[in-house]
Amino acid sequence: MIPERPPIKERVKLPRQSMPERAAGERARDFAEVNLGYDPTRALTEAVRCLECASPKCVGGCPVGVKVAEFVALVAAGDFLAAAAKVREDNALPAITGRVCPQEDQCEGVCPLGKRGSPLAVGHLERFVADYERQVGELGLPPIGRPTGKKVAIVGSGPAGLSCAGDLVQRGHRVRVFEALHEFGGVLVYGIPEFRLPKEIVRQDVESLAAMGVEFEANVVVGRTVTVDELMQEEGYDAVFLATGAGLPRFLGVPGEHLNGVYSANEFLTRVNLMKAYRFPEADEPLYDCRGRDVAVIGGGNTALDSVRTALRLGARRGLILYRRSREEMPGRAEEIHHAEQEGVEFQFLVNPVEFLGDDTGALVGARCQRMELGEPDDSGRRRPVAIPDSDFDLPLSLAIVAVGTTANPIVQSTTPDLATNRWGYIEADAESLATSKPGVFAGGDIVTGAATVILAMGAGRTAAAGVHEYLCGNEDGREAGG
Ligand code: FAD
Ligand code: SF4
Repeated sequence: MIPERPPIKERVKLPRQSMPERAAGERARDFAEVNLGYDPTRALTEAVRCLECASPKCVGGCPVGVKVAEFVALVAAGDFLAAAAKVREDNALPAITGRVCPQEDQCEGVCPLGKRGSPLAVGHLERFVADYERQVGELGLPPIGRPTGKKVAIVGSGPAGLSCAGDLVQRGHRVRVFEALHEFGGVLVYGIPEFRLPKEIVRQDVESLAAMGVEFEANVVVGRTVTVDELMQEEGYDAVFLATGAGLPRFLGVPGEHLNGVYSANEFLTRVNLMKAYRFPEADEPLYDCRGRDVAVIGGGNTALDSVRTALRLGARRGLILYRRSREEMPGRAEEIHHAEQEGVEFQFLVNPVEFLGDDTGALVGARCQRMELGEPDDSGRRRPVAIPDSDFDLPLSLAIVAVGTTANPIVQSTTPDLATNRWGYIEADAESLATSKPGVFAGGDIVTGAATVILAMGAGRTAAAGVHEYLCGNEDGREAGG
């Protein structure tokens, strides 16, 4: 039943509908999804909290301008499929963004309800309409434009590559996605664990794109298997979109980082996610034996939180986060920090490892750490951690996972002449069209911005699709051709 919309002044008093979730004790030992999703009653109850602002700030808070107020009004009216269609006008992957966007910094961060209590649960509602659409099997494929005869290669199948592929195929171009790994989805499958984003959701989005005509080819490392120039000159591609992400791990550069038992988060998560160790014990795949071990993850972002929660699920005795700033500066999503705490992750703030300690077989046995305090803000605006003299202490450990960020993988840049990069190795691209210095080559997502977010990468994919289309066909909008 559709609830009556109370007067505005009453709505501010309504509590935010919480996301049903599995009990921490039960979920912390398996890989099934933590959040269970709203049911229709909960979604309706939440949607009526919307204040229906005349100029809704939430739309500007979303990096791709999802028409939040309009889709929420459709939820409140009980028309969930129309609500899903409204979100899809601006966001091709709502089941994913509803789960992983840092909403507290985006759409929900600017909601006026937040000033008086809790902001509208935009992310939960977005996830609800996207899941509802899938469950009732009404995921309509958009119309495909008349064939233009142009061929576009997309390098990388993360959110940037997938969203670009979707837009280009709709405009009538022939699109082929080349992916270095054996599964498609980029960080959505190899980084973000199953308990936050079920792989089936990403797989369904890839299948929808394939049904729209996008071709996919796995196990192709562009720059090794084939170069960008070969794609354009020998294989007849008229344009290339580089969406290779920022997957090269950074390390701390401290003594002992080579010891057995010190891993990059990237390698740890990739092995667990792609080798199906998340299905352990059914999957008999190689995985790090975390059982009974004390595992520390160094870092404070989503990657660190995903790694430590994964280690606990693989049987770690203790899962620790070592972070050199304080809780307020942690860049991870608020919900993930909360879930990690519920699952028993221990946080040690203002702590920085300065050396990993090994035994005489070369195995990790601990970390020498320094205590930190916060000084003046640095370039990121966050207060800079400053070491406290003579504060060293040793922490016994049997596994350490370094999650202090990633940078650009240089393979494509180093094998593509005339492709301008900045001093950190990221590809330079025009802000409007995402065209690079090389004619016909476009780039977007983390490989241009550095590690960012799913929705920003997705937005970049759409911008690049518009840029590629204009490069190939001028201003003609292939989608109007229908077909
Ligand atoms: P990617 O997703 O990195 O995809 C790039 C793809 O290109 C990969 O599949 C790679 O294998 C492929 N590739 C690379 N080089 C080549 C080559 N030479 N040839 C062929 N293929 C190649 N963001 C959020 O918004 N919310 C979150 O909760 C969140 N959690 C995260 C958790 C983890 C563990 C990580 C690592 C990141 C997380 N992020 C999160 C960040 C987000 O996932 C990225 O910003 C986003 O995926 C970037 O998209 P992309 O398409 O640019 O690149
Ligand atoms: Fe909010 Fe992300 Fe949806 Fe935009 S895409 S409305 S930021 S949840």
